Amino acid sequence: MYHKVDPKPELGLSCVHPKTFEKQIDFLISKGFHLVTLSQLETESMSNDKRIAICFDDGYKGVIEHAYPILKKYSVAATVFIITNFIGRKNTWDVNLGGIQYEHLSREDIQKLVDAGWEIGSHSVSHQSLRGVDKQELQYQLRHSKATLEKIIKQPVHVFTAPFGTISNRINTAALKSGYHKICGFFPIKFYKGAIPKGVVLRLAVYRSDGLNSIERKLSGDRRLYFEIIKQNVINFCSNATIAVNTLR
Ligand SMILES: [Zn+2]
Repeated sequence: MYHKVDPKPELGLSCVHPKTFEKQIDFLISKGFHLVTLSQLETESMSNDKRIAICFDDGYKGVIEHAYPILKKYSVAATVFIITNFIGRKNTWDVNLGGIQYEHLSREDIQKLVDAGWEIGSHSVSHQSLRGVDKQELQYQLRHSKATLEKIIKQPVHVFTAPFGTISNRINTAALKSGYHKICGFFPIKFYKGAIPKGVVLRLAVYRSDGLNSIERKLSGDRRLYFEIIKQNVINFCSNATIAVNTLR
C-alpha cells in the first residue's frame, strides 16, 4: 500500500519517489509476482498464485501522473481508494509537513484509471476516523462515498479502506452490510498468525525509507515480516499523532 508517488519532496515518510516506485515494481515482477487489483486477489480463474495487489490510499494526483505511467509500462492495473469529498481538490486534511499541498484525482482521472482496468475503492467521504462515530455517521461515510463513486464510474464499488486503517468488528460489519466485499485495514501486531475476520484484508505499507531489502522482508512471511509489521505500527502511530496535532491547531 502506497500513499503518494511523487518527486515533490515532503518531510513525512508516505511519499515515494517515482524512480524508487519503478524499481520496486520491477523487483516484484522479477520475483515472479503477478500484480493484480484487490478484487482479483481471489479470482480463481487466474493461474498465477503469486499475486500482489498494489493499492494507493487517499487518491492523490501523483497516482495518475507518476504511478500510472510506470504501471502501464508493465501492463499492471492497481487499486486506488478515493476520499469522495476531496475529488479534484487539494488536501487540507493531511499531515501536510512543510506546507506542501498535494492535489487529488479528478472525476476524469478516476474514469481514465477505470478505463485502464484499475479498481476504484472508497476511502470514506471525509477521511475522519470512524472509531466511535454514531451509527448514522458511520453509514453515511460508507454508503454515500460508495454511491458517489458508483455514479462516477458506473460500476459497483466492492472495496473499502477505513481512514487511518482503523478497523473494528463494528466498522467491518457495517461495511459488509453496506455492500462492500473487502475491507482493508492496517496490519496490527495481534493479527500476525491470528485469525483474520471475514472480509478483512490486511495490507503492508511501503514508505520512503523502504529499500528493496525491506520489500523482500515484507514478502518473506517469516520473522522478517514481523519486523516490518512492528516498523509499520511505529510509523503509523507517529503519523497519526501528527494528524491529531494538526487537527487541534
Ligand atoms: Zn488515508
